[in-house]
Amino acid sequence: MFRNALDDLYPKKLIPVMISLSGIDENKKVNEISRTERSHLVELTKKFPVTLTGIRGYNEAIITQGGISVKEVNPATMESKLVKGVFFAGEVLDVDAVTGGFNLQIAWSTAYAAAHGITKSQEEEKKS
Ligand SMILES: Cc1cc2nc3c(=O)[nH]c(=O)nc-3n(C[C@H](O)[C@H](O)[C@H](O)COP(=O)(O)OP(=O)(O)OC[C@H]3O[C@@H](n4cnc5c(N)ncnc54)[C@H](O)[C@@H]3O)c2cc1C
Repeated sequence: MFRNALDDLYPKKLIPVMISLSGIDENKKVNEISRTERSHLVELTKKFPVTLTGIRGYNEAIITQGGISVKEVNPATMESKLVKGVFFAGEVLDVDAVTGGFNLQIAWSTAYAAAHGITKSQEEEKKS
């Protein structure tokens, strides 16, 4: 049956959606599916239409694009180009990435650079 033949093709929750969009009777035997129906299913799979209807709100938000422009920050030290002795790291910067560790990496890497930047700046201050 068509409805039992899609397990390897789609995630479980997507199967009823694809069956519905395909217009093929879910009880149809696989060997009775026509070439046209098969082509339609292939088209649907390769060009699946998705309409975004909105975002899920602040409580589920993952990343905030901060207000500090990276153009105003020295990337080697994370020190402000506008105000000496002020350093930035992480989400306060106007960068954001897709989820998957990239935002955490931004936070860690900029913090690492800022920590070194602060140390360097303190050493230079001691010397002068
Ligand atoms: C639910 C959720 C899931 C996420 N999942 C992922 C993911 O899977 N992968 C990924 O890469 N990123 C993910 N992120 C984003 C990532 O966690 C953040 O981008 C990252 O932690 C930002 O680090 P940060 O140090 O810049 O800011 P924060 O971690 O927000 O640290 C700021 C700190 O400052 C403190 N603070 C604020 N105001 C003051 C003040 N006035 N005085 C003193 N302290 C103050 C806060 O309490 C906080 O501890 C997720 C975020 C959320 C909310």
